[in-house]
Amino acid sequence: MQETDGMICRACGNEERASEGYPCAECETFICLICSFRGVTLCKACAEKQGGQTEPPAAGP
Ligand SMILES: [Zn+2]
Ligand SMILES: [Zn+2]
Repeated sequence: MQETDGMICRACGNEERASEGYPCAECETFICLICSFRGVTLCKACAEKQGGQTEPPAAGP
């Protein structure tokens, strides 16, 4: 049994099978099946981007 299609999940960091994963909804990097079961559709980097999307009010000088 060969596991040649292992890829690192960009959400949890585990190596999972690429054929059983999903692409990140944002950048299409690899998200593993386990994460997608948990409702994760974005990789870590994109999740952080989305999470901090509340832009601060433009209180310029
Ligand atoms: Zn994962
Ligand atoms: Zn992403």
